[in-house]
Amino acid sequence: THFGFETVAEALKEHKVSAVFSSVASSYDTMNDLMSLGIHRLWKDHFVRNLNPGSNPLTTRSPDSQGWNILDIAGGTGDVAFRMLDHASTINNDAHTRVTVADINPNMLAEGRKRALATPYARSPRLSFMEANAEHLPTIPDNSIDLYTVAFGIRNFTNKDAALREAFRVLKPGGVFACLEFSKVNSSLFDAVYKRWSFGVIPLIGQLVAGDRDSYQYLVESIERFPSQTEFRDMIKNAGFLVPGQGWEDLTGGIAAIHKGVKP
Ligand code: SAM
Repeated sequence: THFGFETVAEALKEHKVSAVFSSVASSYDTMNDLMSLGIHRLWKDHFVRNLNPGSNPLTTRSPDSQGWNILDIAGGTGDVAFRMLDHASTINNDAHTRVTVADINPNMLAEGRKRALATPYARSPRLSFMEANAEHLPTIPDNSIDLYTVAFGIRNFTNKDAALREAFRVLKPGGVFACLEFSKVNSSLFDAVYKRWSFGVIPLIGQLVAGDRDSYQYLVESIERFPSQTEFRDMIKNAGFLVPGQGWEDLTGGIAAIHKGVKP
């Protein structure tokens, strides 16, 4: 830090992440489907159903009639945001819950805006897009958000603890932090198969389908480097959250996991 090395390293990482997502923005969904054999859709469905957006007031500060104020960080192309609005409208008959999709990458946001045109929310005040770094959200007031979601985003952040502290700051007391992310596979046999798939096949699919081996190599390595379920749970606790139960739910043998924290 004395010599500014950390800052240079952080800037390089941010630049690299930005290049990766600019490069994959348009082929993003096809690649997700190929890489996860379509399973990411089921995980996202489960994530949203379980959060049940727009059900009864999540925090004492949001009267029923106002719906939930949701911040979907690293929301990319809007995949999770559209699901949450659909769920609020069709399952909970709630026409007020709104989602802000925040992402650091303008190309991903542009893709999200384009996709929003095919949904009922394109011109609705219930959906908005915002270019922002999860580690620093100066335009979002303290205690203003009911639900903070981040799906397959946090492992790309340079400073995850800073992002968790910002999540804590913007959430209302009683508000929920919910994260869907790749995690650690919990059987060694399954892990061996999974590693072969991810390190051997995914960069190759990236090369063949998106003409971009390096970005997909980066994605696989970032999954490998991400903390385990317990380590990440402890990071959430350290940011001040209360963690219900063991703190996470494994999906597909731990390939992905959902972590939650509640702001006291
Ligand atoms: N949530 C979406 C989904 O599940 O399909 C997109 C996930 S995509 C794998 C990761 C996203 O994180 C990218 O859109 C990228 O631009 C965004 N991202 C990376 N670093 C970020 C940061 N520091 N702040 C906000 N977004 C970030």
